[in-house]
Amino acid sequence: MKKLYTLICLLGVVGFGYGQDQGILTGLEEKAAFYGTISKQIWSNPELGYLETESSTLLQKTLQDAGFAVKAGVADIPTAFVAEYGQGSPVIGIMAEFDALPGVSQQAVPFREPVVEGGAGHACGHHLFGTASVAAGISVKEWMEQNNIQGTIRVYGTPAEEGGGGKVYMARAGLMDDVDAMLHWHPGSQNAAGAYSSLANISTKFRFYGEASHAAAAPERGKSALDGVEAMNFMVNLMREHVPQETRMHYVITRGGEAPNVVPAFAESYHYVRHPDAQVVKEIFKKMVDAAEGAAQGTQTRMEYEIINGVYNLLPNETLARVMHKNLELVGGVNYDREEKKFAEDIIGTFPAGVKASPEDAAKIAPFMVSEKGSGGSTDVGDVSWLVPTAGLGAATWVPGTSAHTWQAVAAGGMSIGQKGMMVAAKTLALTAADLFKNPEVTKAAKEELTRRQGEGFEYEALVGNRTAPLDYRK
Ligand SMILES: [Zn+2]
Ligand SMILES: [Zn+2]
Repeated sequence: MKKLYTLICLLGVVGFGYGQDQGILTGLEEKAAFYGTISKQIWSNPELGYLETESSTLLQKTLQDAGFAVKAGVADIPTAFVAEYGQGSPVIGIMAEFDALPGVSQQAVPFREPVVEGGAGHACGHHLFGTASVAAGISVKEWMEQNNIQGTIRVYGTPAEEGGGGKVYMARAGLMDDVDAMLHWHPGSQNAAGAYSSLANISTKFRFYGEASHAAAAPERGKSALDGVEAMNFMVNLMREHVPQETRMHYVITRGGEAPNVVPAFAESYHYVRHPDAQVVKEIFKKMVDAAEGAAQGTQTRMEYEIINGVYNLLPNETLARVMHKNLELVGGVNYDREEKKFAEDIIGTFPAGVKASPEDAAKIAPFMVSEKGSGGSTDVGDVSWLVPTAGLGAATWVPGTSAHTWQAVAAGGMSIGQKGMMVAAKTLALTAADLFKNPEVTKAAKEELTRRQGEGFEYEALVGNRTAPLDYRK
């Protein structure tokens, strides 16, 4: 690894000249307001997973206007797209998300104030994610034209990250098979470009079918589907004692009957199982199905299950991550003006006591880190990272200390703080893509690292099995 690091450091000095790349930075800077408007348009019309028609169309149009060839509706998903410029190899991909979350509607103000009570909102910042990735793609395309660079730049429009697993179906359809390196980013409360992992995850709806009856007058004629759900959940909770330490299992009862005096004929619970290793997730999931079957038998009900989503853990790629980190340091973090600082202080004032954060943290770059342990959540980038060398960064689009999926995230994402953070990501992605076009030995080393990390005999098998994308999971 040390050798590789030396090589990359050397490239940093010799190969990655400032001359051409300075154009990327100034070009993006000049268009910051333009991309700010696009992100605001998507933020103002938050669309849920697989329903992101207008968001996807706007990003496609932006790419088309800039000279990309766009294929929409790929992998049998209406809002998924692949935009491409150039020919042949290397092929460098950048992923763009754009789905919103239900129930977190919020105005761009530093106190709780929904736009629409109970409405959707961009609490994961995917409006910034999509826009910055498109901005980076266009900037790389212009740089390729100006410098006669051979190869292909692609922007992947990947819908429904929040539980819909859009990338899984795009990866399974082979849309990424010829990509040499894949780049992505995520909005966050700090700037970081380490080589991190995440948790593999299978999420499933277990549906129980019984027999309705009057719960007092004829209880003996009823078969309670809710009993099925409760018996299953009891067993799953017992299982917690016998799973590896890093496992996470959580569930909600999505349907539990309508009235206490009617024996429920239908009930449903929605389970997640997560672990840093996809194989372990598969094993625990099998036990969960056994518990559901046992519960059905014991309650004289019938059980069916549907895998809603399944994603691999992120496979870090240190080779690419180091290039990304170098560029993030070059770009620098987010500096607030007076108004933004005030906004940030107000937001920080809403955090629970004990959350330590300061507006100045947005300007910092986190030290480079490699972590294979996988923690926190799951992402459908995971599947892509097992197929193509993949690297990402986080940029401070939210006030330091902000957690994802909160109104504070929506608020900052709808104003200049989010838009400034987004441009840090766009610049870092574009510089990294340019580096990869110029230095084929880096993508070669990244590919070797991927093969080594995949391990002997690895064959990709989507955790969602052969199901089609759950296009109506948010309807
Ligand atoms: Zn999210
Ligand atoms: Zn997200």
